Amino acid sequence: MLSVATMHSQTIVLVRILCADGIEGIGEAATIGGLSYGEESPEGIKLAIDAYIEPVLRTADAACVAGTMLDIQRAIVGNHFAKSAVETALLDAHGKRLGLPIDTFFGGRVRGRLPVAWTLASGNTESDINEAEKMLSARRHNIFKLKIGKRALADDIAHVAAIKLALGDRASVRVDVNQAWNEEVARRGIAMLADAGVDLVEQPISRANAKGMARLVSISRIAVMADESLHGPGDAFDLAALHASDVFAIKLEQSGGLFAAQRVAAVAHAAGLGVYGGTMLEGGVGTVASAHLFSTFPSLDWGTELFGPLLLTEEILAEPLDYSEFSLAIPTGPGLGIHLDEDKVAFLSRDRTTSLHPVAVTEGA
Ligand code: MN
Repeated sequence: MLSVATMHSQTIVLVRILCADGIEGIGEAATIGGLSYGEESPEGIKLAIDAYIEPVLRTADAACVAGTMLDIQRAIVGNHFAKSAVETALLDAHGKRLGLPIDTFFGGRVRGRLPVAWTLASGNTESDINEAEKMLSARRHNIFKLKIGKRALADDIAHVAAIKLALGDRASVRVDVNQAWNEEVARRGIAMLADAGVDLVEQPISRANAKGMARLVSISRIAVMADESLHGPGDAFDLAALHASDVFAIKLEQSGGLFAAQRVAAVAHAAGLGVYGGTMLEGGVGTVASAHLFSTFPSLDWGTELFGPLLLTEEILAEPLDYSEFSLAIPTGPGLGIHLDEDKVAFLSRDRTTSLHPVAVTEGA
Protein backbone atom coordinates (compact mmCIF):
# COMPACT_ATOMS: atom_id res chain seq x y z
CA MET A 1 0.00 0.00 0.00
CA LEU A 2 1.10 3.53 -0.64
CA SER A 3 -0.38 7.00 -0.53
CA VAL A 4 -1.62 6.84 -4.08
CA ALA A 5 -2.60 3.34 -5.10
CA THR A 6 -1.96 -0.33 -4.61
CA MET A 7 -0.96 -1.85 -7.91
CA HIS A 8 -1.37 -5.47 -8.90
CA SER A 9 -0.56 -5.02 -12.54
CA GLN A 10 1.24 -2.58 -14.74
CA THR A 11 0.24 -1.51 -18.24
CA ILE A 12 3.09 -0.37 -20.43
CA VAL A 13 2.73 1.60 -23.66
CA LEU A 14 5.46 0.45 -26.03
CA VAL A 15 6.16 2.76 -28.96
CA ARG A 16 7.88 1.56 -32.12
CA ILE A 17 8.89 4.06 -34.78
CA LEU A 18 9.98 2.57 -38.09
CA CYS A 19 12.05 5.13 -39.96
CA ALA A 20 12.34 5.44 -43.75
CA ASP A 21 15.91 4.10 -43.63
CA GLY A 22 14.61 0.87 -42.09
CA ILE A 23 15.82 1.60 -38.56
CA GLU A 24 13.33 1.01 -35.75
CA GLY A 25 13.39 2.87 -32.44
CA ILE A 26 11.51 1.87 -29.31
CA GLY A 27 10.15 3.95 -26.47
CA GLU A 28 7.92 3.46 -23.45
CA ALA A 29 5.32 5.25 -21.41
CA ALA A 30 4.01 3.96 -18.09
CA THR A 31 1.88 5.47 -15.36
CA ILE A 32 1.30 4.67 -11.71
CA GLY A 33 -2.08 3.04 -11.16
CA GLY A 34 -3.77 4.26 -14.35
CA LEU A 35 -4.89 7.81 -13.58
CA SER A 36 -4.45 7.58 -9.82
CA TYR A 37 -1.10 9.41 -9.73
CA GLY A 38 -0.90 11.65 -12.80
CA GLU A 39 -2.95 13.13 -15.57
CA GLU A 40 -2.19 10.67 -18.36
CA SER A 41 -3.33 7.05 -18.61
CA PRO A 42 -1.86 4.27 -20.78
CA GLU A 43 -5.05 4.30 -22.88
CA GLY A 44 -4.95 8.09 -23.30
CA ILE A 45 -1.24 8.02 -24.15
CA LYS A 46 -1.84 5.49 -26.92
CA LEU A 47 -4.71 7.55 -28.29
CA ALA A 48 -2.68 10.79 -28.25
CA ILE A 49 0.16 9.12 -30.12
CA ASP A 50 -2.02 7.38 -32.71
CA ALA A 51 -4.36 10.30 -33.39
CA TYR A 52 -2.13 13.35 -33.01
CA ILE A 53 1.60 12.57 -32.86
CA GLU A 54 1.77 9.92 -35.57
CA PRO A 55 0.59 12.32 -38.33
CA VAL A 56 3.39 14.75 -37.38
CA LEU A 57 5.93 11.94 -37.52
CA ARG A 58 4.84 10.93 -41.05
CA THR A 59 6.44 14.05 -42.56
CA ALA A 60 9.29 14.42 -40.06
CA ASP A 61 13.02 13.87 -40.56
CA ALA A 62 13.75 11.09 -38.08
CA ALA A 63 17.43 12.02 -38.01
CA CYS A 64 16.52 15.47 -36.69
CA VAL A 65 15.17 14.49 -33.28
CA ALA A 66 15.09 17.96 -31.69
CA GLY A 67 13.39 19.46 -34.75
CA THR A 68 10.82 16.68 -34.85
CA MET A 69 10.06 17.11 -31.15
CA LEU A 70 9.71 20.86 -31.73
CA ASP A 71 7.13 20.15 -34.44
CA ILE A 72 5.27 17.90 -31.99
CA GLN A 73 5.47 20.59 -29.27
CA ARG A 74 3.94 23.13 -31.65
CA ALA A 75 1.10 20.81 -32.66
CA ILE A 76 0.26 19.27 -29.28
CA VAL A 77 -0.09 20.85 -25.84
CA GLY A 78 0.75 18.84 -22.70
CA ASN A 79 0.77 15.05 -23.04
CA HIS A 80 4.24 14.81 -21.50
CA PHE A 81 4.18 11.03 -21.15
CA ALA A 82 3.21 10.44 -24.78
CA LYS A 83 5.89 12.87 -25.99
CA SER A 84 8.52 11.26 -23.77
CA ALA A 85 7.82 7.80 -25.23
CA VAL A 86 8.02 9.11 -28.80
CA GLU A 87 11.19 11.09 -28.12
CA THR A 88 12.79 8.00 -26.59
CA ALA A 89 11.98 5.98 -29.72
CA LEU A 90 13.42 8.68 -32.01
CA LEU A 91 16.61 8.84 -29.93
CA ASP A 92 16.91 5.05 -29.88
CA ALA A 93 16.58 4.96 -33.67
CA HIS A 94 19.11 7.78 -34.13
CA GLY A 95 21.57 6.14 -31.78
CA LYS A 96 21.31 2.92 -33.76
CA ARG A 97 21.73 4.94 -36.97
CA LEU A 98 24.98 6.46 -35.72
CA GLY A 99 26.16 3.45 -33.70
CA LEU A 100 26.14 5.44 -30.44
CA PRO A 101 24.39 5.02 -27.08
CA ILE A 102 21.81 7.76 -26.51
CA ASP A 103 23.66 9.26 -23.52
CA THR A 104 26.03 10.62 -26.20
CA PHE A 105 23.28 13.03 -27.30
CA PHE A 106 23.30 14.55 -23.79
CA GLY A 107 27.04 14.97 -23.49
CA GLY A 108 27.95 11.37 -22.70
CA ARG A 109 27.92 9.40 -19.49
CA VAL A 110 30.01 10.41 -16.51
CA ARG A 111 29.17 7.17 -14.66
CA GLY A 112 28.49 3.64 -15.88
CA ARG A 113 26.29 2.53 -12.99
CA LEU A 114 23.54 4.23 -11.03
CA PRO A 115 22.66 3.72 -7.35
CA VAL A 116 19.11 2.34 -7.10
CA ALA A 117 16.77 2.79 -4.13
CA TRP A 118 14.11 0.27 -3.13
CA THR A 119 10.63 0.95 -1.79
CA LEU A 120 9.52 -0.88 1.35
CA ALA A 121 5.78 -0.89 0.87
CA SER A 122 4.28 -3.68 2.96
CA GLY A 123 3.35 -1.27 5.75
CA ASN A 124 4.34 -3.96 8.27
CA THR A 125 7.43 -2.92 10.23
CA GLU A 126 8.89 -6.42 10.73
CA SER A 127 8.30 -7.43 7.09
CA ASP A 128 9.87 -4.23 5.86
CA ILE A 129 12.95 -4.68 8.06
CA ASN A 130 13.32 -8.28 6.87
CA GLU A 131 13.01 -7.20 3.26
CA ALA A 132 15.61 -4.46 3.75
CA GLU A 133 18.00 -6.93 5.40
CA LYS A 134 17.63 -9.28 2.43
CA MET A 135 18.36 -6.44 0.00
CA LEU A 136 21.44 -5.40 2.02
CA SER A 137 22.75 -8.98 2.17
CA ALA A 138 22.24 -9.43 -1.57
CA ARG A 139 24.01 -6.08 -2.10
CA ARG A 140 21.08 -4.98 -4.29
CA HIS A 141 19.85 -1.88 -2.44
CA ASN A 142 21.08 0.22 0.50
CA ILE A 143 18.69 3.14 -0.01
CA PHE A 144 15.15 2.55 1.20
CA LYS A 145 12.10 4.67 0.55
CA LEU A 146 8.99 4.31 2.69
CA LYS A 147 5.55 5.39 1.58
CA ILE A 148 3.76 7.20 4.38
CA GLY A 149 0.89 9.63 4.83
CA LYS A 150 -2.13 7.33 4.93
CA ARG A 151 -2.01 6.44 8.62
CA ALA A 152 -2.02 8.64 11.70
CA LEU A 153 1.23 10.61 11.98
CA ALA A 154 2.37 8.88 15.18
CA ASP A 155 1.87 5.44 13.59
CA ASP A 156 3.75 6.40 10.45
CA ILE A 157 6.65 7.88 12.42
CA ALA A 158 6.88 4.85 14.71
CA HIS A 159 7.06 2.57 11.64
CA VAL A 160 9.77 4.63 9.96
CA ALA A 161 11.80 5.14 13.15
CA ALA A 162 11.84 1.40 13.92
CA ILE A 163 13.10 0.61 10.44
CA LYS A 164 15.84 3.26 10.62
CA LEU A 165 16.87 2.04 14.07
CA ALA A 166 17.19 -1.53 12.77
CA LEU A 167 19.21 -0.56 9.69
CA GLY A 168 21.34 2.17 11.27
CA ASP A 169 24.18 3.55 9.19
CA ARG A 170 24.04 0.62 6.79
CA ALA A 171 21.27 2.28 4.78
CA SER A 172 19.75 5.60 3.85
CA VAL A 173 16.09 5.74 4.88
CA ARG A 174 13.78 8.23 3.18
CA VAL A 175 10.04 8.80 3.03
CA ASP A 176 7.61 9.78 0.30
CA VAL A 177 4.40 11.39 1.53
CA ASN A 178 2.91 11.81 -1.97
CA GLN A 179 1.24 15.14 -0.96
CA ALA A 180 -0.78 13.49 1.80
CA TRP A 181 -0.02 15.97 4.61
CA ASN A 182 -1.17 19.52 5.12
CA GLU A 183 1.46 22.07 6.05
CA GLU A 184 0.82 21.94 9.81
CA VAL A 185 1.14 18.14 9.94
CA ALA A 186 4.21 18.37 7.73
CA ARG A 187 5.91 20.81 10.14
CA ARG A 188 5.55 18.32 12.98
CA GLY A 189 6.15 15.24 10.83
CA ILE A 190 9.37 16.43 9.24
CA ALA A 191 10.85 17.35 12.64
CA MET A 192 10.02 13.86 13.95
CA LEU A 193 11.51 12.23 10.86
CA ALA A 194 14.71 14.24 11.35
CA ASP A 195 14.90 13.05 14.96
CA ALA A 196 14.48 9.45 13.73
CA GLY A 197 17.48 9.73 11.40
CA VAL A 198 15.57 9.90 8.12
CA ASP A 199 17.59 11.58 5.35
CA LEU A 200 14.92 13.03 3.11
CA VAL A 201 11.19 13.68 2.83
CA GLU A 202 9.58 13.63 -0.61
CA GLN A 203 6.63 15.85 -1.56
CA PRO A 204 5.18 16.25 1.94
CA ILE A 205 2.36 18.57 0.86
CA SER A 206 0.24 19.40 -2.19
CA ARG A 207 1.99 20.37 -5.41
CA ALA A 208 -0.36 23.36 -5.43
CA ASN A 209 1.29 24.76 -2.27
CA ALA A 210 4.76 25.76 -3.47
CA LYS A 211 5.03 28.56 -0.92
CA GLY A 212 4.23 26.04 1.80
CA MET A 213 7.02 23.83 0.48
CA ALA A 214 9.37 26.82 0.70
CA ARG A 215 8.34 27.44 4.33
CA LEU A 216 9.00 23.77 5.15
CA VAL A 217 12.41 23.89 3.43
CA SER A 218 13.34 26.96 5.50
CA ILE A 219 12.76 25.16 8.81
CA SER A 220 13.58 21.53 7.94
CA ARG A 221 16.78 19.89 9.22
CA ILE A 222 16.54 17.24 6.50
CA ALA A 223 16.27 17.48 2.73
CA VAL A 224 12.85 18.17 1.22
CA MET A 225 12.35 16.81 -2.30
CA ALA A 226 9.86 17.91 -4.95
CA ASP A 227 8.25 15.24 -7.12
CA GLU A 228 4.61 15.87 -8.04
CA SER A 229 5.40 19.63 -8.04
CA LEU A 230 7.79 19.15 -10.92
CA HIS A 231 6.27 18.91 -14.38
CA GLY A 232 9.11 20.24 -16.50
CA PRO A 233 11.64 23.08 -16.74
CA GLY A 234 9.09 25.83 -15.99
CA ASP A 235 8.14 24.27 -12.66
CA ALA A 236 11.81 23.66 -11.94
CA PHE A 237 12.55 27.35 -12.42
CA ASP A 238 9.64 28.41 -10.17
CA LEU A 239 10.58 25.94 -7.42
CA ALA A 240 14.23 26.98 -7.56
CA ALA A 241 13.31 30.68 -7.45
CA LEU A 242 11.15 30.07 -4.36
CA HIS A 243 13.65 27.60 -2.88
CA ALA A 244 10.62 25.34 -2.48
CA SER A 245 12.73 22.15 -2.44
CA ASP A 246 16.28 21.04 -1.69
CA VAL A 247 16.23 18.20 -4.20
CA PHE A 248 14.46 17.58 -7.51
CA ALA A 249 13.07 14.11 -8.30
CA ILE A 250 13.67 14.17 -12.03
CA LYS A 251 11.33 11.99 -14.07
CA LEU A 252 11.58 11.76 -17.84
CA GLU A 253 7.89 11.30 -18.47
CA GLN A 254 6.68 13.88 -15.98
CA SER A 255 9.20 16.39 -17.38
CA GLY A 256 8.06 15.80 -20.96
CA GLY A 257 10.99 13.76 -22.30
CA LEU A 258 14.76 13.46 -22.09
CA PHE A 259 15.55 16.96 -23.37
CA ALA A 260 13.07 18.50 -20.91
CA ALA A 261 14.41 16.39 -18.04
CA GLN A 262 17.94 17.51 -18.91
CA ARG A 263 16.75 21.12 -18.59
CA VAL A 264 15.16 20.36 -15.22
CA ALA A 265 18.54 19.02 -14.08
CA ALA A 266 20.26 22.13 -15.45
CA VAL A 267 18.01 24.34 -13.32
CA ALA A 268 18.76 22.21 -10.25
CA HIS A 269 22.49 22.46 -10.81
CA ALA A 270 22.36 26.20 -11.49
CA ALA A 271 20.37 26.71 -8.28
CA GLY A 272 22.66 24.50 -6.21
CA LEU A 273 19.93 21.92 -5.58
CA GLY A 274 20.38 18.16 -5.32
CA VAL A 275 19.06 15.76 -7.96
CA TYR A 276 17.50 12.31 -7.76
CA GLY A 277 16.57 10.09 -10.68
CA GLY A 278 12.87 9.30 -10.38
CA THR A 279 10.65 6.63 -11.92
CA MET A 280 7.08 6.22 -13.07
CA LEU A 281 7.55 2.46 -12.60
CA GLU A 282 8.55 2.03 -16.20
CA GLY A 283 9.59 -1.36 -17.51
CA GLY A 284 12.97 -2.03 -19.08
CA VAL A 285 12.67 0.36 -22.02
CA GLY A 286 11.67 3.48 -20.08
CA THR A 287 14.06 2.61 -17.27
CA VAL A 288 17.04 2.38 -19.62
CA ALA A 289 16.06 5.67 -21.29
CA SER A 290 16.10 7.29 -17.83
CA ALA A 291 19.38 5.62 -16.97
CA HIS A 292 21.09 7.01 -20.07
CA LEU A 293 20.05 10.56 -19.21
CA PHE A 294 20.83 10.27 -15.49
CA SER A 295 24.29 8.93 -16.37
CA THR A 296 25.13 12.32 -17.87
CA PHE A 297 24.24 14.49 -14.85
CA PRO A 298 27.36 16.16 -13.41
CA SER A 299 26.19 15.11 -9.94
CA LEU A 300 23.53 12.68 -8.81
CA ASP A 301 23.64 13.32 -5.08
CA TRP A 302 20.63 11.22 -4.11
CA GLY A 303 20.92 8.31 -6.56
CA THR A 304 17.91 6.92 -8.42
CA GLU A 305 14.83 4.78 -7.96
CA LEU A 306 15.09 2.97 -11.29
CA PHE A 307 13.73 -0.29 -9.87
CA GLY A 308 10.66 -0.59 -12.12
CA PRO A 309 11.79 -3.72 -13.98
CA LEU A 310 12.46 -5.49 -10.67
CA LEU A 311 8.76 -5.24 -9.78
CA LEU A 312 7.51 -6.92 -12.91
CA THR A 313 7.05 -10.67 -12.94
CA GLU A 314 7.47 -10.77 -16.72
CA GLU A 315 10.70 -9.79 -18.50
CA ILE A 316 10.22 -8.11 -21.89
CA LEU A 317 13.92 -7.51 -22.60
CA ALA A 318 15.87 -10.19 -24.42
CA GLU A 319 18.62 -9.74 -21.83
CA PRO A 320 17.62 -8.67 -18.29
CA LEU A 321 19.23 -5.55 -16.86
CA ASP A 322 22.16 -5.93 -14.48
CA TYR A 323 21.14 -4.94 -10.96
CA SER A 324 24.01 -5.67 -8.60
CA GLU A 325 26.36 -3.97 -6.13
CA PHE A 326 23.56 -1.60 -5.09
CA SER A 327 23.33 -0.26 -8.62
CA LEU A 328 22.09 -0.63 -12.20
CA ALA A 329 24.55 -1.02 -15.07
CA ILE A 330 23.74 1.23 -18.01
CA PRO A 331 23.76 -0.64 -21.35
CA THR A 332 26.54 0.38 -23.72
CA GLY A 333 25.21 -0.62 -27.15
CA PRO A 334 23.83 1.71 -29.85
CA GLY A 335 20.61 3.59 -29.05
CA LEU A 336 19.12 2.39 -25.78
CA GLY A 337 21.37 -0.68 -26.06
CA ILE A 338 18.55 -3.14 -25.41
CA HIS A 339 16.45 -5.59 -27.42
CA LEU A 340 12.87 -6.66 -26.84
CA ASP A 341 11.89 -10.27 -26.35
CA GLU A 342 9.41 -10.13 -29.23
CA ASP A 343 7.63 -13.36 -28.29
CA LYS A 344 7.05 -12.09 -24.77
CA VAL A 345 5.86 -8.70 -25.99
CA ALA A 346 3.40 -10.39 -28.36
CA PHE A 347 2.19 -12.64 -25.55
CA LEU A 348 1.59 -9.70 -23.21
CA SER A 349 0.01 -7.41 -25.78
CA ARG A 350 -3.50 -6.14 -25.24
CA ASP A 351 -4.19 -6.87 -28.89
CA ARG A 352 -4.45 -10.50 -27.87
CA THR A 353 -7.85 -11.60 -26.72
CA THR A 354 -6.29 -13.14 -23.62
CA SER A 355 -5.11 -9.66 -22.54
CA LEU A 356 -2.48 -10.68 -20.03
CA HIS A 357 -0.37 -8.05 -18.31
CA PRO A 358 2.80 -8.12 -16.28
CA VAL A 359 1.94 -8.39 -12.62
CA ALA A 360 3.66 -5.98 -10.25
CA VAL A 361 3.86 -6.07 -6.50
CA THR A 362 2.54 -3.11 -4.55
CA GLU A 363 4.61 -0.09 -5.37
CA GLY A 364 4.67 3.58 -6.00
CA ALA A 365 6.92 6.50 -6.74
MN1 MN B 1 7.25 10.46 -5.27
